[in-house]
Amino acid sequence: MPSMEHLKELKAFLSIPKDIVITTHRNPDGDAVGSSLALFHYLSQMGHTVRVMAPSEYPDFLSWMPGATEILVFDVHTEQGTEWLQRADMIFVLDYNDLERVDRMGEVIAPLKCPKVMIDHHLFPDPFADYVLSDTTASSTCELIYDFMVMMGHLDRIDPKIADSLFTGILTDTGSFKYSTSSKLYRIVADLVDRGVDDVRLQDLIFNSMDEKHLRLLGHCLYNRMEILEEYHTGIITLTKEDYEKYSISRGDTEGIVNFMLKLKNVKVAAFIHEQPTITKLSLRSKGDFSVQEIAKMHFKGGGHRNASGGSSYAGLKATVKKFKSLLPNYKTQLDNA
Ligand code: 5GP
Ligand code: MN
Repeated sequence: MPSMEHLKELKAFLSIPKDIVITTHRNPDGDAVGSSLALFHYLSQMGHTVRVMAPSEYPDFLSWMPGATEILVFDVHTEQGTEWLQRADMIFVLDYNDLERVDRMGEVIAPLKCPKVMIDHHLFPDPFADYVLSDTTASSTCELIYDFMVMMGHLDRIDPKIADSLFTGILTDTGSFKYSTSSKLYRIVADLVDRGVDDVRLQDLIFNSMDEKHLRLLGHCLYNRMEILEEYHTGIITLTKEDYEKYSISRGDTEGIVNFMLKLKNVKVAAFIHEQPTITKLSLRSKGDFSVQEIAKMHFKGGGHRNASGGSSYAGLKATVKKFKSLLPNYKTQLDNA
């Protein structure tokens, strides 16, 4: 169980109704949205005025989540978002640990004097927050929101909406309990089930809600765009701007495609490299001890976790793929032994 400094002070602060803004990262995933909404429901229940925002839109498959429609997209409603942030008594930073990751929203938050609370599980947190609950061994930020509620002495406040939100983040960040699990996590999940989570229904809502075009896109990626570099135990899928147009997809639609390459016995590293309007994005995944975090951080201005990281490049798609491939020989021994 992680700990949090100055918890007493934070408890006292939250014992009186406040204006609170919860923020999360760009392209929010199940854990970002799940942790934000769980905290939103919890703090609202306590009598606070709570708002949630992210720099960009959440993916469609999360739109069923209670409270999802309340999430403000900062890049679209910048003025409203800025006003909320400037008026806030406290700002929560969830599922990211560096204001640079949230661009303009971060630029608004950085100079604000109000206390900030970071709850996150990514490596190397930037020490800007006043209260920090950071545990890189946690499966998800949702696991840490559960821990936070334990610390607050408020487990009994977990209602079905909070439980569903927490379960969603845990499920998506662990790939349905395939990575980053622990006995502690299973105990938390057991408790959430006791508190009303219908796990089968949620698995169905989250994983069996694809549009036909998404499944066809997956087929296209695996059949036409996948390259396996046996020697380096690495798989690469690339997607061009034209692919995005042809399949009329937006960025969130490609979520999860990278993971399919890890199903191959010999593959230890998977890279999904795709063209965005102005940059080339990389999604990196690995199995076991091999860390993709270093590659993302050192070569693609990114970061993340040992087994799931991301980054970007201003070079085009071809040049970025070439650069990625050129790095692999440096890791050959590590890859052979991982
Ligand atoms: P994804 O591949 O799903 O976009 O991201 C995987 C993980 O890497 C996430 O935990 C995310 O926070 C992190 N990540 C993705 N892109 C970036 C980036 O550009 N910078 C940093 N620091 N982390 C990233
Ligand atoms: Mn997360």
